Amino acid sequence: MHLNIIVISTEVFPNSLQVRVIPLELQRLFASLLLVDQQSASTASLTDSFGWNSSEGTNQHDVQELNRILFSALEHSLVDTSGSTFIHRLYHGTIVNSIACKECGNVSQRQEDFLDLTVCVCGMSSLEDALWSMFVEEELFEGNNLYRCAQCDRLVTAAKSAKLKKLPPFMTVSLLRFSFDFAKCERYKETGRYSFPITINLQPFCEQTDGEESDYSYELFSVIIHKGGCYGGHYHVYIRDIDQLGQWEPPEEEYKLKSQKKGKEDFKKDVCEPKLQEDDPLSVLTAIIAQEPSKSVLLDQLGQKLMDKIGSSWSKKFRKHYGPIGKFLQSHSDVFMLVSNGTRVALKANPPSPVTEPPSPVTEPPGPTEQITNSDPSTPSDPGAADPQLEPKKEQGSHWFDLNDSTVTSIRESDIEKQFQGKESAYMLFYRKTQLHRSSEALNNAQYKVPLHLIHMAQEENIKLQHMREKFEATNNTVELRLHLATHYRLENGALQPINKEQDRSTTLSFDRRKTVGDLRLAIYQMLDQWEGDMALTMAKSLPAGLHLYNTIIDDGVSVYSAGLQTNSDLFVWNGREVCGATVLIGAEWEPVLLTVVRPHLGEDGIPEVEDGVGCEEGSGGFENEGTGLKKEARGFAGAATLGEVKEALGEPKESLLCQEHKGRKRAEQGAGEGGGASGWRLFPPDDMHRTLKELSLKDGDALLVLEPQSFDSSMFTLNGDVVTVTTPSDCRWLQVEFQQNGGEEGDKEEERKKVKVPATGNMLLCEVKHRAIEELQLQESLPGAQYCLRQVDCTGKLLPPVCEEMSVRDAGVRLMTTLTLCPGIAPKASQLFLHFSVGTAPSAGMEMDIIVESTCTVKECLKTMLDAVGLDGTCWHLRRLDWCEDIGEPIVDEDASLTELKINNGETLIVTEGQLPPKGFLKLSVWFYLDPRDNSMETDFNGHTEEQTLEVVTAGKTHSQSSPMYAGNMAELKSVGQVEISDEATLEDFKTQVMTLPSLQDVCLPTAAFMRVWQLEGQRLARILRGQHLTLRKLKLTSGTDLCVQQLLKEEDLGPKEVLLNVKMGVPGERCYYPPEELVWDASRDSSPRSLRTCLASHYGLSPDSLLLAKHQPEKHTWEEISNWNQQVSKKKKKKKTESLLGAPFHLKDGDTIGIKNLLIDNNRDFVTMEDQQGQQRLREQAEQRRKGGQAAGSDGVGPCKKTGITKSRKPEVALSINVGVFR
Ligand SMILES: [Zn+2]
Repeated sequence: MHLNIIVISTEVFPNSLQVRVIPLELQRLFASLLLVDQQSASTASLTDSFGWNSSEGTNQHDVQELNRILFSALEHSLVDTSGSTFIHRLYHGTIVNSIACKECGNVSQRQEDFLDLTVCVCGMSSLEDALWSMFVEEELFEGNNLYRCAQCDRLVTAAKSAKLKKLPPFMTVSLLRFSFDFAKCERYKETGRYSFPITINLQPFCEQTDGEESDYSYELFSVIIHKGGCYGGHYHVYIRDIDQLGQWEPPEEEYKLKSQKKGKEDFKKDVCEPKLQEDDPLSVLTAIIAQEPSKSVLLDQLGQKLMDKIGSSWSKKFRKHYGPIGKFLQSHSDVFMLVSNGTRVALKANPPSPVTEPPSPVTEPPGPTEQITNSDPSTPSDPGAADPQLEPKKEQGSHWFDLNDSTVTSIRESDIEKQFQGKESAYMLFYRKTQLHRSSEALNNAQYKVPLHLIHMAQEENIKLQHMREKFEATNNTVELRLHLATHYRLENGALQPINKEQDRSTTLSFDRRKTVGDLRLAIYQMLDQWEGDMALTMAKSLPAGLHLYNTIIDDGVSVYSAGLQTNSDLFVWNGREVCGATVLIGAEWEPVLLTVVRPHLGEDGIPEVEDGVGCEEGSGGFENEGTGLKKEARGFAGAATLGEVKEALGEPKESLLCQEHKGRKRAEQGAGEGGGASGWRLFPPDDMHRTLKELSLKDGDALLVLEPQSFDSSMFTLNGDVVTVTTPSDCRWLQVEFQQNGGEEGDKEEERKKVKVPATGNMLLCEVKHRAIEELQLQESLPGAQYCLRQVDCTGKLLPPVCEEMSVRDAGVRLMTTLTLCPGIAPKASQLFLHFSVGTAPSAGMEMDIIVESTCTVKECLKTMLDAVGLDGTCWHLRRLDWCEDIGEPIVDEDASLTELKINNGETLIVTEGQLPPKGFLKLSVWFYLDPRDNSMETDFNGHTEEQTLEVVTAGKTHSQSSPMYAGNMAELKSVGQVEISDEATLEDFKTQVMTLPSLQDVCLPTAAFMRVWQLEGQRLARILRGQHLTLRKLKLTSGTDLCVQQLLKEEDLGPKEVLLNVKMGVPGERCYYPPEELVWDASRDSSPRSLRTCLASHYGLSPDSLLLAKHQPEKHTWEEISNWNQQVSKKKKKKKTESLLGAPFHLKDGDTIGIKNLLIDNNRDFVTMEDQQGQQRLREQAEQRRKGGQAAGSDGVGPCKKTGITKSRKPEVALSINVGVFR
């Protein structure tokens, strides 16, 4: 780390009350990072010292901006100390710009300072490429763009060039990765490949080239990486460990590959994963789901994961073309499927694996051995696979680390190349002069030049941490073992069963897993003082059939952890041979299986329902006979027992037949919703009698039907080939009806629910079921005339729509032997739909209502019924569907279509939304009128309309409520003049014509449509001028609800696609103010370079282009960004290159931007900042200060005056970054 170079000794701070807190906190942070034994250090006290409150600390900011203001804050903080120049000494460089007259050779020069060098990415392939174009290529003034030479006093041919003059010890390079797409009117991130070298020689770019070669040589030591898009993202940094302070290990993936066999498959997938196609939502979503360890994603997290992956939201990137995300998933049901009750989405091709039981210690030996040694806390971690001797040596001197929030990982130098391009790519580069030799004392010495008090601070911190860790380790290493004593068990049904069921079968023992098995054995001996003879400790597991034993722990020397014992491990304590005289067979092959033995149970035999004797009391179930005519009994058998042995154990005669449940049949039945009724079984072939339960893949819970041959005399069992069909008697055909007094409100007490069992068949009509239930529950007596309906409940307990009572049980998809809920309310007829709806908000707001409508009724009729139901009237409502992500979807445009035609389903939710729907193919646009601050004549026209809505906007940048409306001359006021309903096939000209007919614009003089300029409003910003009189509104991408602003012009205008309307204002010579602004159309279609703008302005003012100094105003920051000419090039190099465009980064010139101009011939004030700007900056500082002090008190600032009606949601306003520094002069 180079950070310890910035060592500030405390003596630079005079003993005044004023504390230069920023450098002190920065120093403390660096000391913590260096010396405190933690992966991360908190930046809270540093950001506190900036005067930031908690929300400012978490706001997203640009790191280049932070770098600059932090440097400036440090300089201000160190004024009048010996450290006052250190930023300058370390980072300051200069560039010299020259213009050489080709006639007389006179060279005029201008010098520029920099702390970081900003270089173009757009159109460049590498850093060298960018430097070449900045510092090697010349620009020629020739033809009709000549230069006025002061010496020749006439227009001449001249060459312009720039060179690096002073090189700083540390060269910071900022990459301009963020650009503006003028056509789409949006910001974007340059993600193209842009390489940069590890070492670079700057000699070719320097003015003086006669120094030593080493004077120009730089090496990379840090890279700040931005991951994400242009509206948000995440930074992390690669840092070279120059002093070798960190523990560099070969990067993770190397030994992941070798030692983690388990993760191998996933890892391979990552490596071989085809390049993500970010423009294809199918590819992106598939990739996101595939990378999840659970192979599925919660639906409500999918949006965020998408954002993380591609740096853009679904709505922004895909919604326009692919609709809501929920619909998209639905329409690709061949790829996606819903799991976990529809809460998660998974891939059909790669579904999540079913929940498997935790691996037993024996069947799955605890992983590859390396894994144990790696994570065993008792032995130092040793990444066995990688050669620790060889690897670091090979890369000595170039140990790189990736610092990412709280994690620091070793990386290879070659990993830097991964950041040449992409959504995650290098953003700032830090080079240091190769000559800068670090003192040999600094090597491996983190304390080097760290002030003593900070070393003490770190030591104290480390002691605290160590205590905490020891405590944590101790807690972390305590395992709770369950000991089972042999004396409490007997062997039965293939497994160990406790003799006394009532008594707790196990004793819990807390033990430090770092101790040995020998220690454990001793502890157990001490616990059981009456133990005699040998003691075997055997791993056991509680299975459905009972306790089963696996391997016995023999090696007393290994740690409890290495022996595979964990919290809740079962350990059987015995003599190692027998239990109660019976030999115990241990190991996985003898694992017992708990089968459900099914036998005919015929009432006439007079056998009581519950039998005993055969019972295996252990395990699940016992008996469940519930009138199915079958008797079920759970029995455990050793897995290695053959089917024949099982038959014998069951006491069955040889002729008895054994059958296995026909799984396929069973599933099909469930799917059909049949319920109850017949079930299918398959006879085991005779050969199977010699096969073991394991071989037959019989598992816990599998059913085994035992039939005596005479059973087939009964009508219950029919044999067809090897398939046995069991038809259960009619008494299992029932439906349970549960009555809920309050319609299923939460909080119902169990006793308020009444249940009744109604005999039912698949052919019975549901209304019959209902009537019987009402009779049985005697509801008609208590509430005569009340209406009831039957509803099913889904697995989450939510009531489903009422069932249609005209249907049979089978047709309605109701399974027999399930429960229906009887609720107050009316059931829909077969021709009707039961719909949920809510007004204005999604149902999650809790205001959901139900309604029954004919499925043939139109959307309009449905809406009317809903409005009637909630007592609303009027026509300014429309319906929207709710997709299954619970997002409110697109409006249902076709109001005359029937619900059936629109495929609106029973139980679907509709949202009644405010606002009248324009006819199909029509747009409804809100129109505002622009009151030009420079033309007060309009004011009077509008003063009468006091009820009109007004809106203040800044014509460029963002609104500031504090600004006065007349401020800087470019604040405009907008008046709402109404709405226009117009076909989306209408042209811009048609729109203008229609606007002119609006009553409120009757008095405005607009001879033709060309005298009207139309702005599109975005948030509270005049965002773009709509161009192309003959383009349709659809082509212009206007949608219903868009706000447009019309402006009256004094002359006709028809802007081309790349003609930019600028506000230009000339500085008053020698003063800090400007002449009134003028509008100027700059044609950037052929050339959008600074030079083109300069030429355009020069001809506008009748001046030489070279005497003009230009800057773009940043109204939200009250600053000016100078547009210099030096970084453009004439294509001398053979390589073809895009010329630098003002429409792209960093200027992003667009309609309404303000350009300030200084005429250098008569104005020697090169500073663009006005008094108003300074006041604005002061206000920003005060606001920041207020926020720091008052927290939320000033929270409302930055939000302009709010318009009352539907402004589209705008992005959170970007707050200018600032750091508060005291005054130390
Ligand atoms: Zn000259």
